[in-house]
Amino acid sequence: MREADSKRILVTGGAGFLGSHLCEYLLAQGHDVLCVDNFYTGSKRNIAHLLAHPRFELLRHDVTFPLYVEVDEIYNLACPASPVHYQNDPVQTTKTSVHGAINMLGLAKRVRAKILQASTSEVYGDPQMHPQTEDYWGHVNPIGLRSCYDEGKRCAETLFMDYRRQHRLQVKIARIFNTYGPHMHPNDGRVVSNFIMQALADEPLTIYGDGSQTRSFCYVDDMIAAFDKLMQTPDGFCGPVNLGNPVEHTMLELAERIVALCGSRSPIVFKPLPSDDPVRRRPDIGLARSMLAWEPKVALTEGLSRTIAWFRQLRPGLIDDELLMPAGVAAQERTLHAPDMSK
Ligand code: NAD
Ligand code: UDP
Ligand code: UDP
Repeated sequence: MREADSKRILVTGGAGFLGSHLCEYLLAQGHDVLCVDNFYTGSKRNIAHLLAHPRFELLRHDVTFPLYVEVDEIYNLACPASPVHYQNDPVQTTKTSVHGAINMLGLAKRVRAKILQASTSEVYGDPQMHPQTEDYWGHVNPIGLRSCYDEGKRCAETLFMDYRRQHRLQVKIARIFNTYGPHMHPNDGRVVSNFIMQALADEPLTIYGDGSQTRSFCYVDDMIAAFDKLMQTPDGFCGPVNLGNPVEHTMLELAERIVALCGSRSPIVFKPLPSDDPVRRRPDIGLARSMLAWEPKVALTEGLSRTIAWFRQLRPGLIDDELLMPAGVAAQERTLHAPDMSK
């Protein structure tokens, strides 16, 4: 890349699962990367291999506080993503989404940077339309256990659109559907990491509910490619755009596939379903196909095999590492047994 094409890019949440892959990708493209993270759910381990890179910089900072730096582009990923993690301190989750968005938009406005928001399929809630297209307004419980995340992300989308309309900011909104791959935290409570950890230890795979609920899983490399393509779209296009893999699976199918790929002897057990757990989720990616010329390339079996290989080489000492978050299993117990305030 010519020096003139190299940009200074801020990645908030850069030490997390998606953020760490994005930092690596942007460095490889020849950009300068400023990774900002408060290590709430992210880990220095995810970016340890980047620390010596001359174009990489790491700043411990909480995006709910103002940040004054000079950059050309911003990817705003800071926010816990696993239900176990975001429900652990729900007020902080909403603050991160809303105050974090205001601060990053204020920063983008001051330096006239282009800014991409990591939004989520959760803005559709427990959807009554299937598959979900971007013009569906969603079916979200505003006072349930998931609402700190869902409503926080919905409000962030509002702020992004209003900064665009009011301040002529260049914004891009990505509605990310379930994504998996190396660097997921082994204790983060999400279904892919839980099942792989359980299968590798020959422990029972915990299906919540009867396992008939569906999700659509996108491999991380496909998602990072989509982020880049979305950021490069013409100024007139801001999204929101669904990013995810449109192939839908039940949790029972996922469990069986992971047991087989791990060569595990694990049985499957059934546990209570957490409240407001969406029944079906699958993106309609027609807009991404036409506007980004993008679609996922990595099939589930291939992506799971790569992810399992990464989990296999994790040293046991690293699993209970320096996360500020309590261990996922304990938090999950609390989530499952917490009173359901939505009823
Ligand atoms: P993650 O938890 O691994 O990463 C989030 C990162 O943000 C962590 O490094 C965490 O320490 C950091 N963070 C949290 N609060 C912060 C704060 N106040 N200030 C600074 N840093 C903070 O999650 P992920 O899967 O990498 O998700 C990244 C983004 O993508 C999130 O915004 C999430 O909502 C969105 N997303 C992810 C998925 C998915 O399936 N992975 C799906 C939908 C949306
Ligand atoms: N902000 C920031 N970095 C900047 C500029 C602004 O963190 O470089 C924060 C600032 O603290 C403010 C928020 O972004 O609270 C919104 O900024 P904006 O200029 O939109 O609004 P105002 O400052 O007028 O409230
Ligand atoms: N799930 C499960 N067992 C687990 C973890 C999750 O059956 O050990 C289910 C969960 O109830 C949900 C789906 O798997 O229906 C996806 O959960 P995840 O937490 O990964 O993400 P979500 O899509 O719900 O945000």
